Amino acid sequence: MSLEDSPKEECGVVGIVAPGRHVARLAYFALHALQHRGQESAGIAVADAGHVMVQRDLGLVSTVFTEPGLRGLQGDSAIGHVRYSTTGGNRWENAQPVVRNRGRAVVAVAHNGNLTNTEDLRSMVDTHGEPLLATTDSELMAAVLAAQEGSLLDAACAVMPHLVGAYSVVCLTETETVAFRDPHGVRPLVIGRLEDGWCVASETCALDQIGAAFEREVRPGEAVRITATGVESRQALPPGASRMCVFENIYFARPDTLLGGRNVWLQRQRMGAELARCAPADADLVVGLPDSGTPAAIGFARESGIPYGEAVVRNRYVGRSFIQPDQELRREGVKLKFNPLREVIEGRRLVVVDDSIVRGTTTKQVVQLLRDAGAAEVHMRISSPPVAWPCFYGIDMPDRAELIAAQHPIDEVADLTGCTSLAYLPLDALQRALETPLEGFCHACFSGDYPIPVPSGTRKLRLEREPDPARA
Ligand code: AMP
Repeated sequence: MSLEDSPKEECGVVGIVAPGRHVARLAYFALHALQHRGQESAGIAVADAGHVMVQRDLGLVSTVFTEPGLRGLQGDSAIGHVRYSTTGGNRWENAQPVVRNRGRAVVAVAHNGNLTNTEDLRSMVDTHGEPLLATTDSELMAAVLAAQEGSLLDAACAVMPHLVGAYSVVCLTETETVAFRDPHGVRPLVIGRLEDGWCVASETCALDQIGAAFEREVRPGEAVRITATGVESRQALPPGASRMCVFENIYFARPDTLLGGRNVWLQRQRMGAELARCAPADADLVVGLPDSGTPAAIGFARESGIPYGEAVVRNRYVGRSFIQPDQELRREGVKLKFNPLREVIEGRRLVVVDDSIVRGTTTKQVVQLLRDAGAAEVHMRISSPPVAWPCFYGIDMPDRAELIAAQHPIDEVADLTGCTSLAYLPLDALQRALETPLEGFCHACFSGDYPIPVPSGTRKLRLEREPDPARA
């Protein structure tokens, strides 16, 4: 399996131990809170002292689970997963948790991240374990875990030195629930305390949902065993420099989540305020593209003194759907998502704030939509630096050839998207908004500075078609 055809994992995970509670129901509600991290498949595995049961399918959390189905998932502990895949990965077999036999026992694994040494792992599995059926790096990880002797915590600690890449993982057997995180802590993972148990989740918003108090983050390189009464910790790998994905702060995490102890909504609002200082615009109204652009737009409006308003209404029921629109509808894809408020827009000069430009498709369509609705000017303000490098660690950022900022200088991007003016948030201003040194983050998508090795063949493929240096 090459990384090129492997599905990219942009997922959410949860693990709960609370004997006496309906843990599958808690996991279900936690997954609801993590739904923004993946809408393509959902699954829950539960364990009691004798069995592991799993239910998973393609679709949203609310469609995968029914009341009778959930009632059938009884146990003392549960793990859950929501998954976002890119093209080719949308198959039932790739839904998680992944389940593997482990001697006479079973291990279930839920993974957020992306491994970059799948070839090496595959050779480990071929010598030690049963053949693989699915194609994800998560199944490889489950197979490597299943091949280890000892407790699940021992197995996790033995496997972690062999994993290269980004991983925040929760797994369970009949008797143990374990979570572990890569030594750079690229993807988030937090520990929460319930009244009658303990849990881990990708984001604190999932803890809030199930009434768990935020305890702390799983540390980079740490493996923890969650029990009904506490957390047993092992520093399985020396913690590397923390390199949390900064795109979590910019776009991916829910704004009510705490990352590194800081509220994401307020960070995004400060990104907007910084943007207003770095790239002011003469305009009548500041609008955000809902929902990801909203906090930064509010920050921009406050800082600039230009009133904040809404120029488009978002249809919240349009997600990643299995029913593809026909060609005509797809061309106007953004119309499925946004409808303009003509009466607000007509004749006005707008500052439009969005969190990022990747391929440029959204910006181009939104600008057209607003112009068709009568906007006099459209000043695009982006609350992140230009995305110019692909992500190898689990976020869907395409090859350089498809990234508009890798192929064109800013003035050309403005022309191509049809806006009156365009400005991005510079890296140093992003750092001020985060109130944390940038060295603590992975910002490879903006800087090309990759903190974890990536196989050179894959890297070359995804980085090919370097832009003309004269234009960069
Ligand atoms: P694009 O249309 O390709 O330029 O994508 C940019 C838009 O997609 C922005 O409005 C972002 O809010 C959103 N976005 C950015 N990164 C991602 C991602 N990794 N997955 C899904 N949507 C994204």
